[in-house]
Amino acid sequence: MLYDRFYSRGEFQYCTGPTQFPVYNPTTETQESVVKTCSDEDLEAAIASAMAGFEAWSCSSIEERHRVLVNLEEGLAQRATRIADSLAREIGCPVWLGALMQVPMALKGIQFAREGLFELKWTEQIGNGLVERVPVGVIAAITPWNFPLHQIVAKVAPAIAAGCSVVLKPSELAPGAAQLFMEAVHESGLPSGVVNMVWGGPELGEQLVSHPAIQQVSFTGSTAVGKKIMTAAAKQLKRTTLELGGKSAAVVLPDADLDTALPVVLRMSSVNSGQACVSQSRLLVPESLLSEVEAKLTSLVAMWPLGDPLDPATRLGPVANARQHERVTTMVEAALSQGARLLTGGPGRPEGKEKGWFCPITILSDVQPDMEIAQEEVFGPVLVILRYKSEAEAIALANGTKYGLSGAVWAGSPETATSFARNLKTGQVIINGAAQNLATPFGGWGESGVGRENGRFGIEECLSYRSLHGAH
Ligand code: NAD
Repeated sequence: MLYDRFYSRGEFQYCTGPTQFPVYNPTTETQESVVKTCSDEDLEAAIASAMAGFEAWSCSSIEERHRVLVNLEEGLAQRATRIADSLAREIGCPVWLGALMQVPMALKGIQFAREGLFELKWTEQIGNGLVERVPVGVIAAITPWNFPLHQIVAKVAPAIAAGCSVVLKPSELAPGAAQLFMEAVHESGLPSGVVNMVWGGPELGEQLVSHPAIQQVSFTGSTAVGKKIMTAAAKQLKRTTLELGGKSAAVVLPDADLDTALPVVLRMSSVNSGQACVSQSRLLVPESLLSEVEAKLTSLVAMWPLGDPLDPATRLGPVANARQHERVTTMVEAALSQGARLLTGGPGRPEGKEKGWFCPITILSDVQPDMEIAQEEVFGPVLVILRYKSEAEAIALANGTKYGLSGAVWAGSPETATSFARNLKTGQVIINGAAQNLATPFGGWGESGVGRENGRFGIEECLSYRSLHGAH
């Protein structure tokens, strides 16, 4: 596939940039597609388009915004199979996961944004002051490759709902989902200029962030790049929403039902080959249950057959690219050399896989809290087990990283689990395996980010206040 057209003024237009990015199929290691980049002129055109789009869209009615979001949701639903196929070919996401998680999360994201339109208090009278919620302006939306559609929707749908316009720079490593999203935008009835999209890598991202016409930057990606973006945005005092990395802990309390908890723990650390910001990559276990947990978890790995992501029977595909494969391998090797005990998996490709960036599910025990593997995001199917002796130690371990994005608590009763969860310094906690509710605010504490997405909270992120004193 050749991705060579950006989207500006309501039309797809040919990119005139000097470079191109190859996208490799992580299963075959062959070139799958090519992304042509935008030139400076292309970027200027997209930003000018967004400025004009904002003038019109900021005056649109709630009903118009709702109608467009309904159309967008329908357009994406119609493309669900093609999106899942592109995710399998470009990032190795198994087709079942594309169909059951990646696409449905995006559809829910649009649904909750349009419902949020009617939940928000758009105006409020305080004495003689009329307080209005007004759109901030042109938003730069920069997204990663791991849940590429969901992350685009989490930025663009609330911006549309708020009355803002957007210049989207999707990941150059997962272009298929972004292209199909833009085709749905094109058919949604959205006026020209409200949503624009440019192709490019980090350099183009930097230019976009620093452009004076951009009022707000909404970024999802690594903590390292998030810090660069915040620094660049600060030079012009731009608002930022940063959804960054994590090292989330699943905490098993002594009275938890292990047979219910452990399959979910394994899923939450392995799904999408562990390439999820909310991956529960640390498991905290009471010392008394350690050997039982180790044995049960190891036996569950057989439920995750590894293979071609286009095969519906595959649960675990390869990691998305060579860089990720190298990172996972190196971090597992380092942990083993520091004394971690291997329960299953290991560094490098699993036996029988000479080709493809496959990493086996790897579970490590005897992991110490100060090891790199216990502190840093691996972004691979790697679960580390840390033991604790007391509840106080479990809380200290769970909170003992620079991150704070997600987490889970398993206990004999929801009351015990909820009470423990209140000690966790993290943006969300899943209690006893509850479904993640995408209408609630999503975002991180500490180095996991700043700001919130989802539902009406995502819309509020795109709004400012205007107070009119003595207004009639
Ligand atoms: P990345 O930070 O390398 O890149 C993300 C995006 O930023 C890409 O579009 C990239 O081209 C662009 N970019 C890179 N450098 C830039 C710069 N200096 N200025 C502007 N744009 C720049 O991240 P990735 O490897 O694509 O994604 C993986 C990371 O994303 C992981 O750390 C993961 O935890 C995080 N993530 C966070 C969330 C969340 O909601 N908190 C969700 C998904 C992924």
